[in-house]
Amino acid sequence: MRVAIVGAGISGLALAYYLQKLGIPYDLFEASEHVGGNIKTMQESGYLLELGPNALQYTPELETLVRELKLEQEVVPTAKAGHHRYVLRNGNYEKLPDSPFSLLSNGIFSWKTKLRILQEKDVPPADIDYETITQFFERRFGPGVIEYAVNPFISGVYGGDPSRLLVHKALPLLKEMENRYGSVLKGLLKHPVSQFGYENISFVKGMQTLPNAIAEKLISLHTGLPVEMITRNQGKYIISCSATGDYDTEEYTMLVLALPAQPAAELLHYTFPGMAAALQNIHYPPMSVVHTVYHRRDVNHVLDGFGALHPKAECPFAAGAVWSSSLFDGRCRPHEVLFTSFVGGAQYEAHALTDKEKLMECVHQELKETHGITADKPVFQHMYFMEHSIPQYDLYIEDAHHMAEQLEQEGLFIAANWQAGVSVSSCIRHAKELAHKINLKRPAPSIAE
Ligand SMILES: Cc1cc2nc3c(=O)[nH]c(=O)nc-3n(C[C@H](O)[C@H](O)[C@H](O)COP(=O)(O)OP(=O)(O)OC[C@H]3O[C@@H](n4cnc5c(N)ncnc54)[C@H](O)[C@@H]3O)c2cc1C
Repeated sequence: MRVAIVGAGISGLALAYYLQKLGIPYDLFEASEHVGGNIKTMQESGYLLELGPNALQYTPELETLVRELKLEQEVVPTAKAGHHRYVLRNGNYEKLPDSPFSLLSNGIFSWKTKLRILQEKDVPPADIDYETITQFFERRFGPGVIEYAVNPFISGVYGGDPSRLLVHKALPLLKEMENRYGSVLKGLLKHPVSQFGYENISFVKGMQTLPNAIAEKLISLHTGLPVEMITRNQGKYIISCSATGDYDTEEYTMLVLALPAQPAAELLHYTFPGMAAALQNIHYPPMSVVHTVYHRRDVNHVLDGFGALHPKAECPFAAGAVWSSSLFDGRCRPHEVLFTSFVGGAQYEAHALTDKEKLMECVHQELKETHGITADKPVFQHMYFMEHSIPQYDLYIEDAHHMAEQLEQEGLFIAANWQAGVSVSSCIRHAKELAHKINLKRPAPSIAE
């Protein structure tokens, strides 16, 4: 038995790592010369810039992986202030509540909304087909939480629109709490916060540390090899890469696509056209990540938090910004501050497509207004554009999920953020589970062996 894995983002890398641990032969093909996919750290002009994820949830799987890779000394938890998040309201930033006590003293919600939030435990559970996140929160916590909490949170984390994302797909844990305990609040009380609110971490030299460390351990990783065609012969998969003819002849019992939906669709066009069509329906909105540096003395805001979220109701330009230099040391010089702004996502697609110079100027002007910045120009600015950013767990993803499940009978598996959940920690957890599932399908050794 040999497994072909296409794509060495965190999903493909983690899967290859766990298969290798189980002694299952595999080949991992990556189009780029570099591994990590969305996880990209760049060093420029003395700054450490994250072009993808900024912080990872330190889940038990990630902690174990970090230990096995001997990366413990490289891990940096977010600074204490990172527990706070700010939200834009009437042009100013206000702290979002991070505990039941701060919920009551907080000025973001009216007293009517606060009371309604506390009554959530008395709202009977309901199973509603295709319920969106907005509908779920309105039903359980009342309409007052949508504009200034749910909307900016979903935009900041998923680049998504809560009125389109399905709650059981995008926030399965909350739906599970409703089903299990009859209430989200009761569910949160039953489970210690540590179990769900994992600490956020990065690495001294940035996120790229993790994929690079996994890649170093792999014995069958082939970078710079874009897979161009997948065919089947007597139930076996044949992988074709024109960069080298070598893999044309290799046959694989199982195929794992660790790819975004679009390139996966292209590869399945001839073998599984129905699945290819379903994959084309998954929406990835465009997004630009903008890094902006100022001299500390020119910024009036204390920046004591993870960053700021921007609700749609405020008509912002960026969906929000991470205060990178408040979270981790070594991102810029000590007398400077570094902002990582996200422009785009499902609610602000047109903004992401703005001309580069204009986009960077709009980000600077918005940072200036919202953070009390006195400088006319940033010390440094950099923009990275993604045509396809984060897959949206909306109605259009349902078919692909359903078909992916069925194709497992054919030896075709998925390890990718459009199936596993979008966070890096979800991708790692899913890859580990998939490695064990594949292991169970391993033929029993014959007596002669
Ligand atoms: C801007 C942004 C910010 C984010 N922030 C966070 C965060 O703070 N925390 C968090 O947990 N998550 C965050 N995420 C989500 C997370 O980064 C992704 O969900 C995750 O990295 C996806 O990994 P993947 O391996 O599934 O896919 P990808 O990273 O997309 O990897 C797919 C790989 O397949 C390769 N490939 C494509 N076509 C072929 C081919 N034909 N042949 C061979 N190889 C091919 C690609 O080169 C790529 O390396 C963020 C995402 C974005 C875009």
